[in-house]
Amino acid sequence: MSLPYRQLYIDGKWCDAASGKRHAVVNPATEEAFAEVAFGNASDCRRAIEAASKAMPAWMKLTAWDRAKILKKTAELIRERADKFARDMTMEQGKPVAEAKMEVLQSADTFEWFAEEAKRAYGQVIPNSVPGKRHLTIKHPVGVVGTIGPWNFPMSLQCRKIAPALAVGCTVVAKPASQTPLSVVNIFDCLVDAGLPAGVANLIIGPSSEIGDEIMTNDLVKKVSFTGSTEVGKHLMRQAAGQVKRLSLELGGHAPLIVFPDADPEVVAKAAVMGKFRNNGQVCISPSRFFVHADIHKKFTEVAVEEAKKLKLGNGLDDGTQIGPMFEKKAMENTLGLIADATGKGAKLLSGGKRSTQFPKGYFFEPTILGNLSADARVLTEEPFAPVMPILDFTKLDDVIAAANSTKYGLAAYVFTNDITVAFKMAEGLEAGMIGINDPVPVGVQCPFGGMKESGLGRELSHEGLEAYLETKHISFKLRD
Ligand code: NAP
Repeated sequence: MSLPYRQLYIDGKWCDAASGKRHAVVNPATEEAFAEVAFGNASDCRRAIEAASKAMPAWMKLTAWDRAKILKKTAELIRERADKFARDMTMEQGKPVAEAKMEVLQSADTFEWFAEEAKRAYGQVIPNSVPGKRHLTIKHPVGVVGTIGPWNFPMSLQCRKIAPALAVGCTVVAKPASQTPLSVVNIFDCLVDAGLPAGVANLIIGPSSEIGDEIMTNDLVKKVSFTGSTEVGKHLMRQAAGQVKRLSLELGGHAPLIVFPDADPEVVAKAAVMGKFRNNGQVCISPSRFFVHADIHKKFTEVAVEEAKKLKLGNGLDDGTQIGPMFEKKAMENTLGLIADATGKGAKLLSGGKRSTQFPKGYFFEPTILGNLSADARVLTEEPFAPVMPILDFTKLDDVIAAANSTKYGLAAYVFTNDITVAFKMAEGLEAGMIGINDPVPVGVQCPFGGMKESGLGRELSHEGLEAYLETKHISFKLRD
């Protein structure tokens, strides 16, 4: 029986790849292909970029109000179709369907919020220093934008790019991760049904380096917004230098979660386990180094182990599943490697540690907790992106800040304390773009999202995430005497 098949979307038409190639989408819970997508190449991508460039003058001339009508309709359609979109996401990515639905609804909110915020892309009137001169600034859409996204949040992370870019008058060529294209196909169905004009948004699925090279070297593309690994981000930075292409980069993370002795170890351990194992730790802001004050370390660890053992693994489509499969076999093997490295250096395995034997197929991995870690364990220095919770202890605030800041990453950090002075000292001392104080999910569409150090460049969401698609033009007038 043939599998459901979806095409590329270029210049207002759904189309096959020029080569006729197709790519299978595999369910990580069953290891079986359940759909196919067209798999384009550089020439398909070039056609998409040219269409976006041709569509830009008319799109940018519309008022923000008119563009907003289409984007708000898109949000409405995403909400109407949320149940189906959530199931598609679970099947291609693995996460439990309730989590997938939350992501779908957040994607709708992102379209709605940016549709409104683009009405506030204000310029400035600047006081003159020379008599008879007048200065003002206006905002101008940056141009054709390439959006490249990862597989872990396949819909919401593309929406953070596509929605603000379209809202301010840019046009878009979107490239999803090859293994999770359906969530982005679903966004495009809504954009099309909402009445987006031909060429304004184009969808290209294909081999990453070939599509990436075309996007990065084609002079018609003025900006690239990328979410993915730090390694690929650095590669894109080198390529962007060729044409001084604008870049937004949302890259890897290795977030510390720090618990002070005045916090309730039981309550925090429960929250920490939920935060850690959500999406199998395959989350850029996932807490991945747990620093617990020595006074409460024992209690915190006991509760964390108990909670981790209770988590229900299963197919994300099944009722009651809390943890789905990992995304792919390679990710599971990498996790085993990190655990072997840590235990080889003296770490104690407190829970999990291996592929689950409950399932005949699928990349299911037991939620894993490690204690007694050596500072050079790879799980503490490399981004793990895995269901592994390494628990360490500390006694002094300055020491824990230094340890937390010791990686090249600076995306998120979490602090649990009821002491306002400690909270401020930590918030000011930690090198991270997002800091949750007693808050395991420091994210909202109206709040800036992004990292310091090698975790990225620029911010998404919030007004900053809109500015990322705008150039500032200074207009200077010399009046007659
Ligand atoms: P990845 O391997 O860097 O891939 C991300 C995207 O880039 C995919 O669409 C991939 O395409 C594409 N890509 C790969 N090589 C490319 C190249 N040479 N040129 C152009 N595009 C290329 O990352 P991933 O494994 O999908 O995602 C996990 C990483 O993303 C983690 O490091 C995580 O921390 C990071 N992340 C960061 C954030 C954030 O907001 N800071 C959010 C989520 C994830 P293919 O799939 O076709 O290979």
